[in-house]
Amino acid sequence: MVRKPPNYCPDCGSELQEKHHDGRERGYCQNCSELFFQSPRPTAWTVVHEDEKAVFVRTSNGPWSVPGGFVEVDESAAEGAVRELEKETNLRVSSEQIELIRTGFHMNDPDDGSLLSICFAVPRSEVTGQMRPKNEIAEVEFCCPDLLEKRGERIRSVDEHRHEVAILKARSL
Ligand SMILES: [Zn+2]
Repeated sequence: MVRKPPNYCPDCGSELQEKHHDGRERGYCQNCSELFFQSPRPTAWTVVHEDEKAVFVRTSNGPWSVPGGFVEVDESAAEGAVRELEKETNLRVSSEQIELIRTGFHMNDPDDGSLLSICFAVPRSEVTGQMRPKNEIAEVEFCCPDLLEKRGERIRSVDEHRHEVAILKARSL
């Protein structure tokens, strides 16, 4: 399994050829007789929301985003989402309490390869802990994308979308 479309065989270093298999072109090493399937890395995110607002975080140079990150090998997506939430914001919630709201993908990011994003939501009332920025996070705020944009701050479009889906789902309950 590789994250980016490979040009060379990771085992023997031979240049890969394209081979049509299961409906798409895939890298193939003639030397090893091996096909390479490109698989995404799973990421998990949590929208902690109340009314129109949600918890957003940012690193010192980065745009605002929903808390989240890469899932570890021994975690479910929900376990990864709540671990990242606590790691970044000090907010705690059980992985059973968060609700799956959306999945999506991102192709061939130069840094991270291909990502599968799994997004959860939870009402703020179900979360415990004093909100504060932790680890690589410089700021954490209970806010909404419109207000951040009015202040001239950057927010990733994928995170605006995550916020919107969470608010719409919460309203429809
Ligand atoms: Zn090979």
